[in-house]
Amino acid sequence: MVDLKRQYVRFRDEIDMAIQEVLDSTAFINGPSVKAFRDEFASYLDVPHVIPCANGTDALQVALMALDLQPGDEVITTPFSFIASIEVIKLLRLVPVLADVDPRSFNIDPGQIEQLVTKKTKAIIPVHLFGQCAHMESIEDISRKHGLYVIEDTAQAVGTDYIFQDGGRKKAGTIGNIGTASFFPSKNLGCYGDGGAIITRDAALHHKIQAIVNHGSRTKYYYDEVGVNSRLDTLQAAILRVKLRYLDSFHEARQKVAETYDAKLRNIPQLIPPARVSWSTHIFHQYTLILQDADREQLRDYLKSKEIPVMIYYPLPLHLQDAYKDLGYRLGDFPVTESLSGTVFSIPMHTEMESEQIEYICHHIKTFLKQDD
Ligand SMILES: *Cc1c(COP(=O)(O)O)cnc(C)c1O
Repeated sequence: MVDLKRQYVRFRDEIDMAIQEVLDSTAFINGPSVKAFRDEFASYLDVPHVIPCANGTDALQVALMALDLQPGDEVITTPFSFIASIEVIKLLRLVPVLADVDPRSFNIDPGQIEQLVTKKTKAIIPVHLFGQCAHMESIEDISRKHGLYVIEDTAQAVGTDYIFQDGGRKKAGTIGNIGTASFFPSKNLGCYGDGGAIITRDAALHHKIQAIVNHGSRTKYYYDEVGVNSRLDTLQAAILRVKLRYLDSFHEARQKVAETYDAKLRNIPQLIPPARVSWSTHIFHQYTLILQDADREQLRDYLKSKEIPVMIYYPLPLHLQDAYKDLGYRLGDFPVTESLSGTVFSIPMHTEMESEQIEYICHHIKTFLKQDD
């Protein structure tokens, strides 16, 4: 699905040098690269505050911890996402309240949010899935009206532009109160281990989040609140500094792959290629199609026999996962999510794809669907 090796080889000199510098300095914890990456990432996003942390799941957990919520408070998010977004809600003894997604963008359907708001609702977590933003202006309207916090899960959309109705742009993760990022190796800005960051424009939240990721401490060995230990590793920060410089070119490479896929896979009755919404750029963390009137398992097996990987993001919606049964949801509660879980499939998408590979993948998809090449 991704080719991390070839990307590394392309930047090997710069990355090896960055790693060697950290080894030579032995500043393994909170070394200079962490602060430098923090500032460069903040400048890339055009926000005043970034707090590096250990991974994208921690970023979500710490973001929620910073809001001083009470057990039983409700947080609205979607069942069509990676588990982390709902997991952290549950871990903090908060209640995930789910809203179905929009069938085109795969992102939270703002039209479903307001009817879920109760006196206990405190926050909304839109997940910018696959590289494209949820409709933030609608979500911000609802949050203002009801006094709710908005935490953007930007794990799959680091660098995506949200496009406002007036044409203005802001980076994903910089519109709500807090944004969260993951630098998991396969993410668009991936390091060579775990990494994450928390993004905010709010000085008070920044102050609080900085303490939370550091055991709740602002002065060494004095603890103002209960925190966690969540740091971005210095080696990972050094790698991220190199890769951040190329992030926009990574997006362009992915967008070119997506355009080629679009052109080669269009007008095939069994396929719906990924929609592009007017309010967001798409950085194609995944290229995800909908398959209709064809057997997804057979397609997957056939492509596997041709050594083409296919992934299903996500095969079982979060509301139907065993660990979340006690939320009381059942099959039928989120028809769009359930239908997508049964029909979507993602094909290889990364910065090192060659036209012959794209050609080969499309050829075999068409052969399976008995379409002319
Ligand atoms: C990857 C991901 C996360 C978690 O990030 P980690 O760094 O793996 O903890 C959270 N939310 C979404 C939507 C993700 O894709």
